[in-house]
Amino acid sequence: MFEKIVTFIKELYPNENPVPLHAPRFLGNEKKYLIDCIDTTYVSYVGQYVTRFEELIRQYTGAKYSVAVSTGTAALHTALLLEDVKPNTEVITQPLTFVATVNAIAYCGAQPVFVDVEKSTLGLDPQKLNDFLINHAVLKADGLCYNKATGRLITACVPMHTFGHPARIDQIIEVCSKYNIPVIEDAAESLGSFYKDKHTGTYGTMGILSFNGNKPVTTGGGGMVITNDESLATKAKHMTTTAKKPHPWEFVHDMVGYNYRMPNINAAVGCAQMERITETLENKRNTAMIYKNFFQEIGVTFVDEPENAKSNFWLNTVILKDRQERDNFLAYANEHGVQSRPVWTLMTKLPMYQNCQCDNIEVAQWLEDRLVNIPSSVRI
Ligand SMILES: *Cc1c(COP(=O)(O)O)cnc(C)c1O
Repeated sequence: MFEKIVTFIKELYPNENPVPLHAPRFLGNEKKYLIDCIDTTYVSYVGQYVTRFEELIRQYTGAKYSVAVSTGTAALHTALLLEDVKPNTEVITQPLTFVATVNAIAYCGAQPVFVDVEKSTLGLDPQKLNDFLINHAVLKADGLCYNKATGRLITACVPMHTFGHPARIDQIIEVCSKYNIPVIEDAAESLGSFYKDKHTGTYGTMGILSFNGNKPVTTGGGGMVITNDESLATKAKHMTTTAKKPHPWEFVHDMVGYNYRMPNINAAVGCAQMERITETLENKRNTAMIYKNFFQEIGVTFVDEPENAKSNFWLNTVILKDRQERDNFLAYANEHGVQSRPVWTLMTKLPMYQNCQCDNIEVAQWLEDRLVNIPSSVRI
């Protein structure tokens, strides 16, 4: 069976050996815009492409405001700081995610708390979140939510849309709103993914996107905070641009700010990528449907888009029988020129997060044992 899969994938990507998991494609105006940056000398923090890129993301996602930053991790850090995620508070997230989600919580000095994901979406399970809060949280007279066991304030919840498959974000928000917990969506992997016709990242108080080299739209490195809240957007811009007060020549900074700005050359690449996002996503969906049919025929579970959702199919994923089969497949595929990888090791097993509070996470463990990502680049 492994041989059949590897042969099939090589035929899908005949021009690449080894077949990469996800390679960026530059099929539009990328070079032209980069040359323009160099010719005009606007390679750094001044220039038209950053504002244009922010505008293109607003148009596409429907978010009212957008603030471009240097990485998706910086976007997460910024969003958490703006929700007052401070030392000695707690943030609920999922154990099945990329480490950046949890690192950003740690940058704020806060404690991550892990609640399980669900098989159907690979995202935070709203039912288990609800049960967790019933059992462990209390809404006090100050209107804020505290962890009964630790006494600490729960300052945010960060669900993640895994591999571009939308979590049941409306229900997650409904649960959190009962406890007055703001939701920041880690939509780093889900540009182009919609839940009930609304773009992922626009349900929470803020959402974040990543434009790292392996994401569906890349700026080389980059990120964005998206929100419908003007005040949060203004603060995000201020905080990520060294908190400099606007002035024609004076340098006055009114708080500890960050240099999290996205350079103009990165945004230039992003503008060119966004001009082609429809083609990119059609191509990726087409590949996903080819995979879906193929895996159906050979009796392997392919992770399809969840109910009520339109996924961007960032990384195509299959669910193998058990950890042994997973490891055997990964060894075979990578040896035979098809880059494949397992899902991330659960955050709860990493040395820096292994002592954090963790609910029953049996589904995340089940998925860790079985999920495999297979090549998913745009086919050219
Ligand atoms: C890519 C990614 C990020 C951010 O990554 P950067 O490399 O900092 O842009 C955050 N969370 C998740 C889930 C990601 O996949």
